[in-house]
Order: sequence, then structure tokens, then C-alpha cells
Amino acid sequence: MKRILATAGLAAMLAALLAACGAPATAPESETGSGDTAPPAGALNIYSARHYDSDKQLYAAFEAETGIKVNVRESGAPELLETMRAEGSRSPADVIIASDAGALYRFQQAGFTQPVRSAALEAAIPARYREENGHWFGLTKRARIIVFDPQLLSDAEVDTYADLAEPGLKGEVCVRSSTNIYNLSLMGELIERNGADAAAEWAKGVAANLARPPQGGDTAQIEAVAAGQCSAALVNHYYWVRLAEGPPEDRQKTSRTRLSFPDQDGAGTHINVTAAAVAANSASPENALRFIEFLATPRGQELLTTETKEFPLVEGAPLPSGLEQLPDFRQSDFAVQNLGQHQAAAQAIFDQAGWN
Ligand code: FE
Repeated sequence: MKRILATAGLAAMLAALLAACGAPATAPESETGSGDTAPPAGALNIYSARHYDSDKQLYAAFEAETGIKVNVRESGAPELLETMRAEGSRSPADVIIASDAGALYRFQQAGFTQPVRSAALEAAIPARYREENGHWFGLTKRARIIVFDPQLLSDAEVDTYADLAEPGLKGEVCVRSSTNIYNLSLMGELIERNGADAAAEWAKGVAANLARPPQGGDTAQIEAVAAGQCSAALVNHYYWVRLAEGPPEDRQKTSRTRLSFPDQDGAGTHINVTAAAVAANSASPENALRFIEFLATPRGQELLTTETKEFPLVEGAPLPSGLEQLPDFRQSDFAVQNLGQHQAAAQAIFDQAGWN
């Protein structure tokens, strides 16, 4: 079921027209909160796998701008998937937000998203960061990079993902579990880039280099490198930036480490997204889309990234503090909608390699 976007301008015109006809109208943005114009009916129910204080500001800003009340259910993406499964067609969800294109793929595969068209989103978000039929839209970017100990390794020793599988790094590498979506998505891209056989060889090589069994989240990998438990680890960039922007004890950890943005001379560093979808059974898909469009405005982008330290995806959005210390780097131009289809193959490769 395809929906055609009412752009903000069109919506305002429509509202004015309806008002002139004496029909109930949605509040034009400029009149929000003015009292005599009722806000659009029905609260918007957002299912979010994010958990940041700054998101409260984000929702408040949207409510203030549109008069649309927002209810939020925050939980992990797997839990939200299970919740929606249990709710079935009676799910009150209007918007789904989750990190990693691989997570959105799972919601889409389960039939929990619907395709929508939005001229605003299609203009603001490059095609490689959104689902081609409008099932979901990437909003912020994250890079999966290598954090390493510069006392033990040179830049050249860890300037590719392939380096992590080199015999010279035996006993030096830390990773988190392969069931983690970030690793599944990275593997999905490596399968596309190099083929399944080469990707499997790589996984075996990394597994043979592990300093310890896969464990912990991305922050724990950085801490392990800083503590000398391993020399190199795979992490999403923002975990490092958050530590670097944190209290002195956290900054001390990052100061002992260095970052590598892999594959600068090749396909570029793996990029993933935080993305949002209009839920399949949304009672107000127009308002749901309006919310996602708000996330793609400079203000929405700022509030999405200020605490997370992800990269804004929309041109003209301000860069959150801390990101200025990262180098310019070559980003993979891989279409993130293609990551999810490799999840089963990726997991099988990890399992066979012993990367649990
Ligand atoms: Fe994360």
C-alpha cells in the first residue's frame, strides 16, 4: 500500500483549504499551540530501539512544532520485534526506529513496515541509505572501524579489515559476539565485496587471532585495547567519540588508543545507519511520515546525533561535538538495504569460523 507524501507545503495548503471550507484542519506549523486550532487527532506511537536522554528533546521538539503528541516505547530491537509479533495487526506502533540497516531488514521481513513515498526524504537522504520502496529511511551514519594500540601496532598493520586476519596479529584481536547485528552487517558487506569464500577465510583468520573469546559491547572492546588485553578491535566510531568526550577516566582510555578507518585505498570504511520506518498497521501514517521527515531536518538531525555521536546524514546538519577530531575518510558507497539479506549466510560463516 503506497502512500504519496503530502509535502509540508502541500499539507499547509491543504490545511488552509480545509479550514476555508469549515472542515477540521491540521494545525499549520506557525499556529501550533495557538489554542483555537486543534492539533492533529491521535498520539503518535513510536517504537524505538534507541535509549538516549537527547531523544526526549527530540520528541518534545516535534510535539512543539506540530502539536502531535508522541508516546514512546523504548526497548531493544529484538524485543520490539517480539512485541510487534505478539500485537499482530492490532499493533499501535506508528513509527519504528532502530540502529543498523540489518535491524530494519528484520522488521521489514516480518511485515511490520509499510512502503511510503516522501519527496522530502528522497531529496534529503541519498538512495544508498534508504530502502528502495520506502520501507525505511536511514537518518544517521555510523562507521565500523578499528581501534588499536599505537604502541604495539603501526597504522599500516591495521589499515584494512583484512589485516585483522593476518597471522601477525595472532592473540592480538578483540571482538564482540558474532550474533551482534553490527558484525552481521559488516560481514554482509564483506560477502558482497569479496564473495562468501573469501569472507569465510577472513572470519577464520580473525577467529584465529582472538586474544579472548568474543565478549562485551563495543565500549568493552575499546577498554580492552586501552588496558592492553588486545592490540586491535572492531568498534563503531561513536563509542570511541563518546569516551573521548567523557570524564577524565574515559578520556584516559581513548588517549591510549588510535583509530583506523579501514580500506581507504579500497572500497572504503563500512557505513551503517540508524533508520526509521512507518509501521505497517499505523493508524496515522501521515503523521508517522511527518515525524520521520522531522528527523531529516537540520534540527532533527542535530537532536539525533548530539548525544549519540553518529554522523548526521542530511546535508547542512551541524556536526556533533567530538566528531571534528576524526579524520575525513573514504566511506563505502554500498547500499545498506543489501546488508540484511546476507544475515543467515553471515551467521553461518561466523559459526563455522568459531567466532561465536
Ligand atoms: Fe550502538
